[in-house]
Amino acid sequence: MKTHTYSTDARAWVEADLGALVRNARALSAHARKPIIAMVKADAYGLGATAVARALETIEPLAYGVSSVPEAIELRQAGIDRQLILFTPSMLESPDPDWIPSDALLMKRHQITPTLARAEHIVAWGVAGNKPRYHLAIDTGMHRAGIDHRVVATLQEAVAEFPPEGAFTHFHTADVDDGSLETQEKQFRGAIAKLPRRPRLLHAENSAAIVRRSDSEWDAVRPGVFLYGVSSGSHLALQPEPVVSLRARVLEVRTVAAGESVSYGATWRAERESVIATVCCGYADGLRRTLGQRGGGLVRGQRVPIAGLITMDMTMLDVTGSGCRVGDVVTFLGQDGVESLSVDAVAGQAGLSPYELLVGLRLRLPRIYTGAW
Ligand SMILES: *Cc1c(COP(=O)(O)O)cnc(C)c1O
Repeated sequence: MKTHTYSTDARAWVEADLGALVRNARALSAHARKPIIAMVKADAYGLGATAVARALETIEPLAYGVSSVPEAIELRQAGIDRQLILFTPSMLESPDPDWIPSDALLMKRHQITPTLARAEHIVAWGVAGNKPRYHLAIDTGMHRAGIDHRVVATLQEAVAEFPPEGAFTHFHTADVDDGSLETQEKQFRGAIAKLPRRPRLLHAENSAAIVRRSDSEWDAVRPGVFLYGVSSGSHLALQPEPVVSLRARVLEVRTVAAGESVSYGATWRAERESVIATVCCGYADGLRRTLGQRGGGLVRGQRVPIAGLITMDMTMLDVTGSGCRVGDVVTFLGQDGVESLSVDAVAGQAGLSPYELLVGLRLRLPRIYTGAW
């Protein structure tokens, strides 16, 4: 049984269903009853920031969240003129007097909104621009970026002169009901109260926090991974539609005798005469090496195990009895017939976070965008 036809002659590819992505964004925004700042950092978690942002334009997000200046410039060059917020610290001062950090210049030129946490930076950015926008980063326990919530009052002068458009914090354990989120929010509220004025846009929640609650008390929400089809927990009512598939065509099929080995280190041995299929997709494509011996794929709507270690460019599967032939498509992530492999499940098998599995798919494979919105 051939379950599907694919309109590509690539040997291996990543598919991203942008229709599902847009529906996931709509569902989250409706759940929180707030507009979203769509996190498209790290090339939209590996799926391609330009294509993702173009699709999300239909829901008119409040802004896009990026993690570097070049990521923001790429979106500008693709014609995205919506607000872009840089959610990592900016380089606004120079350790060397002869060297001028380019961040300020580029952020101004491309209208990128930085997230700032130091008085010198707020003043430098304020002086550099004409009504410069920035969001104040407040650290309530992540200890990664932002000003310590206890000393926000030290920014009073800078903030009075150059008021931030927004302020935000980030939760460290939003996926677990351990009370930490509530503690962080309380500290965030306390910090905001120490500002001369309440900034117009307060935001805190990532995907897990949005899903766990409803009706956000803040002005916007900041989802990332949920948009890309990763659930925040199977027990939760709001589940995303899957977005990502990873597929590869079978390019060779051979029979190996009982006792023979497959791949490096001869760690896999045929217990019986076995049919082995080879696909051109390896760890250099993001099919993580830890899936060898544990993971599998779908072919002709059936689950088949990976045989032996995944190599840089190729992976072998034990397709004995499946009817697999050269030209068939193996699915490593996504659906084939009634079977499917979720990002979550495969990440679990690989001993990775789903985030890490997703961003790894950016390495080499062409991306194919599907779905309507
Ligand atoms: C990545 C990130 C998010 C989104 O997190 P998800 O868990 O992917 O929803 C939100 N806010 C900040 C500051 C981030 O860095």
